[in-house]
Amino acid sequence: MLGRAGGLLAEHLADALSKPDPEVLIVGAGPAGLTAATYLARFRRRVLVADGGAPRACWIPLSHNLPGFPHGITGDAILRRMTEQAMEFDAVIEPGRVESLKRDGDGFRATLNGREVRARAVLLATGVTDHHPDLPGVERAIERALVRICPICDGYEAIDKAVAVIGRDDRGVREAAFLRTYSERVTLIHVGPAEALTEEDELHRIGIELIRAPIDNVRLEGDRVTALSWGGAFRVFDLVYSALGTSPNADLARGLGARMSDDLCLAVDWHQTTSVPGLYAAGDVVRGLNQIAVAGAEAAIAATAIHNALRQADGRTVD
Ligand SMILES: Cc1cc2nc3c(=O)[nH]c(=O)nc-3n(C[C@H](O)[C@H](O)[C@H](O)COP(=O)(O)OP(=O)(O)OC[C@H]3O[C@@H](n4cnc5c(N)ncnc54)[C@H](O)[C@@H]3O)c2cc1C
Repeated sequence: MLGRAGGLLAEHLADALSKPDPEVLIVGAGPAGLTAATYLARFRRRVLVADGGAPRACWIPLSHNLPGFPHGITGDAILRRMTEQAMEFDAVIEPGRVESLKRDGDGFRATLNGREVRARAVLLATGVTDHHPDLPGVERAIERALVRICPICDGYEAIDKAVAVIGRDDRGVREAAFLRTYSERVTLIHVGPAEALTEEDELHRIGIELIRAPIDNVRLEGDRVTALSWGGAFRVFDLVYSALGTSPNADLARGLGARMSDDLCLAVDWHQTTSVPGLYAAGDVVRGLNQIAVAGAEAAIAATAIHNALRQADGRTVD
């Protein structure tokens, strides 16, 4: 039985279904999608946000680098506030994944919750999928900030700690080197093939210990200590960073033939337009710095470009 939550969801869906097709469909309700929803709704555009659930942002235990929150804010609170703000201006947010996206004349036709949705423009804010290390309890450890994903986000909170970086290629070297800004005790645990590590000399030069071995166990001890083991030996670290990378959630764009960048993210121009006219992208799915502030900035640029393109198509611009 779904109870009250199910009732609210049904009410929300009924509301979404009763509205005419949106002018703009936003795919993804993370920081990028929700920021664009607020901008477009305030440009008085009919906006539908398809919310595929569990944005990357919901994993953030406590963010200290989001402008305006000097004492930090959790990922859940950020998303709650952004959702409330978008809905305040009548953006419609509908739980569900966009299953397919096709061209339809000058616009697009998407499948969402078993029905067709037509839109004049589409913004992809679908984010990326993290490649987590294959360790027991890793999700719980991320929630407790013992296993971390992003040193740009929270390297400051690693000052003077014993830090391990799990890598399988030179990305691990770069991440370990980045963390030397914060700690002299940085160890790279290389779990990939030997030939994938080409920058070993650089590690020695900047004083990073290298361990080459698969990890076979992880223990969370108390609130802070993470212990990793390989070959029966244990080493204890305060924190572990995973440098195993991400994959962009870009299947819908690929299906439309959108151009990808060298690192397989979506390629966009200065207005966040993909190579497919009317298809825009913002946030982690686009090549760049995976940060909430960046996702928000790209979403603001995309939303403004979409609004202006629609005004132009309607002959409402002054040359
Ligand atoms: C552990 C952790 C800590 C972090 N800490 C920080 C921090 O302190 N500061 C900071 O700035 N950044 C931090 N980040 C990065 C930040 O979370 C991302 O940069 C941000 O969430 C990107 O926003 P986004 O909207 O592009 O993507 P996301 O937040 O990932 O949202 C994408 C959404 O698109 C949805 N989606 C995908 N495909 C579909 C589909 N077909 N139909 C419908 N929906 C779909 C997904 O379900 C998801 O809800 C952290 C990330 C992690 C994992």
